[in-house]
Amino acid sequence: MRTVYVNGEYLPETQATVSIFDRAFLMADGVYEVTSVLGGKLIDFDGHIKRLERSLGELDMQHPPEMGDLLDIHRELVRANDLVDGMIYLQVTRGAAADRDFVFPDPETTRPTVVLFTQSKPGLAKSPAADKGLKVISIDDIRWGRRDIKTVQLLFPSMGKMMAKAANCDDAWLVEDGFVTEGTSNNAYIVKGNKIITRALSNDILHGITRAAVLRFAREAQMEVEERSFTIDEAKEADEAFITSASTFVMPVVEIDGVSVGAGTPGSVSRRLREIYLEESMNAAI
Ligand code: PMP
Repeated sequence: MRTVYVNGEYLPETQATVSIFDRAFLMADGVYEVTSVLGGKLIDFDGHIKRLERSLGELDMQHPPEMGDLLDIHRELVRANDLVDGMIYLQVTRGAAADRDFVFPDPETTRPTVVLFTQSKPGLAKSPAADKGLKVISIDDIRWGRRDIKTVQLLFPSMGKMMAKAANCDDAWLVEDGFVTEGTSNNAYIVKGNKIITRALSNDILHGITRAAVLRFAREAQMEVEERSFTIDEAKEADEAFITSASTFVMPVVEIDGVSVGAGTPGSVSRRLREIYLEESMNAAI
């Protein structure tokens, strides 16, 4: 049985509880982070904590008292669960007020809820999907306007994954005003003539921690990067396509709405970026 963390305590998962009045349960009033673990070490930990701070700030949510201890808590969960490869999920909510109320509770009397748990994925970095590539469909992006905040409001992304599944595909790319915003749980890229193209940062997309690292490594390797929007039609005609996220790293996309991208197999730029990302981030893991 897993050991999980809830509000200052390490407990067996079956004994960890959260109030029915918790605002994340009633109103999706919570933010989260997912940090990958490879070989027992945390990938891009600082980036995830910085984004957590930003999410909390954007929602006027107070920092939980354990904010400064999050590295120790992550490491203790890795140790207690013998985690080698997998993820650590972290959620902070505005806490459980005395009753259901749209108005935020007084932060003086309602402390944030903090939950962390591990998910074991042996061989996470050696996913067979990376050799095969993903098939995606495109769907309308009907999410709210602050996608830069990593909230637990994930119903539409979840529905998108179900639509992909119903179409025998792996994931969905979201389209707004004719342009791809991102994937349901990842950032989206195309490659055209060795140029890596991905949407620029704004409130329309999550500022992926993996995105930031991959673009940095690409530039360091003298690869050309263009941060701009692209359409689904442009993506279908691209040489390559791929996604990035903390748990999939760099993952090639080989089909969009039934149309093969490039040769219909993972492209060389995507494969190289995956190698560089895994090598560099495992070297920097803590
Ligand atoms: N966009 C969305 C909508 C996401 O949910 C995620 C992953 N949580 C990402 C992008 C990728 O972000 P990261 O690289 O930090 O995992």
